[in-house]
Amino acid sequence: MDSGLEKLRFDEFETFPELVHAVSPRYFKNDQGEVEELFDRGNDNSEKTKEHVKWFLKFIGIENQSLFLVNQVHGDNIFILDDPALEFSEVGKVPADALLTQISGKPIGIFTADCLPILVYDPRLKVIGAIHAGRLGSAKGIVFKVVREMVRVYGSHPEEVVVGFGPAIGKCCYEVGEDCVQPFKESFPDEINWFRSGPPGKCFLDLIAVNKMEAEKAGLLPENIFSMGHCTCCSTRNLYSYRREGETGRILTTIMLRP
Ligand SMILES: [Zn+2]
Repeated sequence: MDSGLEKLRFDEFETFPELVHAVSPRYFKNDQGEVEELFDRGNDNSEKTKEHVKWFLKFIGIENQSLFLVNQVHGDNIFILDDPALEFSEVGKVPADALLTQISGKPIGIFTADCLPILVYDPRLKVIGAIHAGRLGSAKGIVFKVVREMVRVYGSHPEEVVVGFGPAIGKCCYEVGEDCVQPFKESFPDEINWFRSGPPGKCFLDLIAVNKMEAEKAGLLPENIFSMGHCTCCSTRNLYSYRREGETGRILTTIMLRP
């Protein structure tokens, strides 16, 4: 079965042998050989979801490890995972939309279904990060703030940091009210490439372009910013899309430093 998994990685991240990372496919074959939807209930803490997490981590070569997630709230809080004794269940209660860690052997991740999942990596200091950047988080400058936090906490040099944008709703499909783009207009008054006009009172927002601008504003080099370029809403890859389907499953984007 073509799970779509192989292509849903960042080639550029594959050049770092110390990293494991992946974006989850929609379908997988369970132990009974049946095709099943992966994370069809998102991050709901059910036994089924726990099984799915276990299956997916094993599939990408991570065994006997818990997945560290935060309680995503469309904000700009950044959680620094620096206590190796901290349980994943505790971290899961923390309201935040980004995690950073230097601890190896602990996969961190973000669940999305149209919002932009972002992975960051500092190859010199071995700092990994996972970011949930939807419209609200992007308007609050979450990527910019994550890079600033990497500088403050770890001493990162932004020009050495690499960032990857996973599958999200594209500028082709992300129609929003004009009021929704106002915060971006205020943040980037001189930029025009992150939206285009739609029907009266509407705009098409380009989340990737906004986050690229924020990453560059934080000091990242354009050549260190990568994007998968799959639109969750219209891609033939049949990714979960809240816009297209309403209640739906979630895509897991995960990264780990090998122990
Ligand atoms: Zn699209």
